[in-house]
Amino acid sequence: MEFKVDKLICAGCGVCVQICPEGAIKIGADGKAIIDQKKCIKCGKCKDICPLGAIKEIKNSKEEN
Ligand code: SF4
Ligand code: SF4
Repeated sequence: MEFKVDKLICAGCGVCVQICPEGAIKIGADGKAIIDQKKCIKCGKCKDICPLGAIKEIKNSKEEN
């Protein structure tokens, strides 16, 4: 399972960056949030706090992007 940002929805507000306890999220060059899967501990806080619901829990980790 992975948490991923839907770039079509993300507004780059940075709220998820602030809440992530592992510093796993940054705003990329395209102005959208990116989750570093190597740092993510899958706590779900970013998904809960995103005002736009842009962060999705992806159950099948074989599915890329
Ligand atoms: S909280 Fe949501 S809209 Fe804001 S940067 Fe994070 S993913 Fe994007
Ligand atoms: S699930 Fe938790 S650790 Fe992973 S990116 Fe979101 S807030 Fe950070």
